Amino acid sequence: MVARHEKDQYPMTSPKPILTDAYSLILEAIDTGTYRPGDRLVESELAERFGVSRTPIREALQRLETQSLLARDGRSLIVASLDHNQMAELYVVRGELEGLAARLAARHATSEEVRLLREMVETDNSLCDKPALLARANRRFHKQIHLASHNRYLVQQLDLVHRSMALMATTSLAAVGRGAIAQREHDRIVSAIEARDEDGADAALREHISVAFTTRLKQEAAAREAEV
Ligand SMILES: [Zn+2]
Repeated sequence: MVARHEKDQYPMTSPKPILTDAYSLILEAIDTGTYRPGDRLVESELAERFGVSRTPIREALQRLETQSLLARDGRSLIVASLDHNQMAELYVVRGELEGLAARLAARHATSEEVRLLREMVETDNSLCDKPALLARANRRFHKQIHLASHNRYLVQQLDLVHRSMALMATTSLAAVGRGAIAQREHDRIVSAIEARDEDGADAALREHISVAFTTRLKQEAAAREAEV
């Protein structure tokens, strides 16, 4: 196990729902950054960490490898990372699917779901300078839009996309100023859903994803510069 993640011992202090199967536990650990791209996953360590026997851990690792969330590095399994092209491809799919979810949410969301989205935007505004918390709040917000689409197949596809998003080592919300701008974009998305403006909700969400992608490209460029 990598030393810098020791403080993130799971799940003792987590307020999240208790996950019990090995697959969900490992996935959650990748999603929340406990394990990052390039980190080695060792069956015995995972079994001990999660208090699960080795057989389900082995099966979960095989499943995650099949889903390309884990990769082989010699004889080891590591958390996969996305290359530039994979990232670009993922953002294209994400923009289309998220836009569709917003469109369907504008059509099908109940008034309670719309009110919840509005409350999320208002609450999350206080997190603009806390990238890690904002990233988590952001996932919750998008998940709520997915659910408000009332289309279970779309929700499944978006879960897959978001799973792969976890393989990006950083969040675009960590870029200077991005948190506040992203929140204004969320506000516009919810306003369109409130107005039952399907085209507007679709366009606002696509724009949000497009700006996030541009931000990430800038982060990549800056990282390349820092390496030289
Ligand atoms: Zn967002």
